[in-house]
Amino acid sequence: AAKQSGRGVLRFYDEHMSLELNDAYLLEKELVVALDQRQFVLHYQPIYDASANQLVQFEALIRWNHPDKGNVPPIDFIPIAEESHLICLIGEYVIDESLKLIASLTEQDIDIVPISINVSGRHLMASGFIEYMEDKLKFYGINGRFVKVEVTEGVFLHDTELCADVMRRLKHLGIEISVDDFGTGYSSLYYLKSLPIDTLKIDKSFVKECHDLAEGHTICESIIRLAQGLALEVIAEGVETNEQAETLIEWGCNKHQGYYYCHPVDEEKAVSILKELVEPRKNKAAKI
Ligand code: C2E
Ligand code: MG
Ligand code: MG
Ligand code: MG
Repeated sequence: AAKQSGRGVLRFYDEHMSLELNDAYLLEKELVVALDQRQFVLHYQPIYDASANQLVQFEALIRWNHPDKGNVPPIDFIPIAEESHLICLIGEYVIDESLKLIASLTEQDIDIVPISINVSGRHLMASGFIEYMEDKLKFYGINGRFVKVEVTEGVFLHDTELCADVMRRLKHLGIEISVDDFGTGYSSLYYLKSLPIDTLKIDKSFVKECHDLAEGHTICESIIRLAQGLALEVIAEGVETNEQAETLIEWGCNKHQGYYYCHPVDEEKAVSILKELVEPRKNKAAKI
């Protein structure tokens, strides 16, 4: 069926689309319940300094333990949550859980590394974001240097002044800022000099090709040179093979995250990694 929607624009509604809209609506209702019943869990993926053989960070990655559907990956609900204020509530949940873990580790005298949290642009720019972060740091008694925030490039396009202000306030709390999926968004390089960014995370689609495809090689190497030239940290995500790891190290990119080293793990395993301070290569060697 087609519907006239003013100025001669035809809008087509087909079954597929109404199904999608309906799905999104149901999903939103389920997300509200999920928040209320605390059905989300965080997994943590280690980030290693491959040249120093050292764990340097964790990235917190959300999972939804759905009562019927089981483990729902973020790609299946984060984009829908981002359509509304729900993403802010989910973001607060993730901040709270991550900081709670840092506090509990500190209490147990376990050596910790910073935890990097993915923050949606909508949440970053929402009023109250900084206040929430600040309150939680105080509540748990955590130094901001144990927290990092990952944002994607899209956020820089919106209100650059506001964005810069929020970022400066994060930095004031001691929280470093990473650009996630670097190179895949629609944005200019201008913000790299105008915003207080600390780290570029090379998107895994480039890392995947860095060893065996000319384009991937050029893009990865260029991002690494760019980061070095601007004195930014650079992290390669999605490192899956020894060849990729060696190539990146050759170019001077030593911070690696990916299945080659370790998949995201549950909290219990993350704690045991910290307790043992597992070194990636040694750990691999020990397994063989
Ligand atoms: P991201 O922030 O870029 O996270 C990296 C994703 O790559 C994770 O997927 C991780 O499991 C996956 N990954 C890690 N190593 C490898 C590898 O070697 N190969 C491949 N193919 N993949 C690898 P995940 O956990 O499914 O998360 C997907 C995306 O969902 C994240 O991408 C992020 O954009 C979003 N996300 C996850 N957790 C949160 C959260 O707490 N809040 C928000 N706003 N977004 C989140
Ligand atoms: Mg991320
Ligand atoms: Mg990424
Ligand atoms: Mg992403």
